[in-house]
Amino acid sequence: MLYIVSTPIGNLKDITLRALEVLKSVDLIACEDTRHSKILTSHYQISTPLTSYFEYNKITKGQYLLGLLKEGKDVALVSDAGTPGISDPGYNIIKLAQENNISITAIPGPCALINALALSGCPGEKFIFEGFLSNKGQARLARLRELAGENRTIVFYESPYRLLKLLADIREVFGEREVLCVREATKKFEEIKKDKAGALIEHFTKRHPRGEFVVILPALKSSPLERASI
Ligand code: SAM
Repeated sequence: MLYIVSTPIGNLKDITLRALEVLKSVDLIACEDTRHSKILTSHYQISTPLTSYFEYNKITKGQYLLGLLKEGKDVALVSDAGTPGISDPGYNIIKLAQENNISITAIPGPCALINALALSGCPGEKFIFEGFLSNKGQARLARLRELAGENRTIVFYESPYRLLKLLADIREVFGEREVLCVREATKKFEEIKKDKAGALIEHFTKRHPRGEFVVILPALKSSPLERASI
């Protein structure tokens, strides 16, 4: 069985009892970075061996993991944070296992986009998740222009190094719309900032962006009253 196990996005206590049980009982844990996942397994005294499975070894390591699964071994897949397969290399091994009729189950838990959306106060019935936009300026702007007529809330992942560029591009395409930045969710320096794009650019120019970010562009008609009038 391949177990897709969601792990904390910051706070080590955000893990389910079932996730701990599975991580203790499987033969191997495949993770993006063994040093990173070791912090979690050591914290919970889990002695299951870890092996790296990341963007640059996903083909060879994928075949190795598939071999183990075919032999009847149990493997847990975890990512550095949150739910494997959401904007991380997990997707490839999940697809490979599916194609080879390996039993798969998921142990649900934290996911940065859902956490940020819940915090945002935006309607959660309909939204779109864009993950990381291209790091190439023209491609990023082109994608944002395609989204210009979108009525649903849009959720992006972004690195601190490109946050200001994303905010500037959002302002260029969407104008002075309200944007929400969720920084370091569940961690000591969690911060939720909602303001016009220009004001956020000013804020993060003065206070250099640090940590992990989810950026949300709320749907224009966001309040329950406004939505009732749609
Ligand atoms: N699989 C993960 C999930 O379930 O959300 C996402 C993996 S993706 C490689 C990492 C991105 O998720 C970060 O660059 C950031 O945009 C977002 N992220 C992860 N942890 C976060 C946190 N504690 N606060 C804000 N954003 C976070």
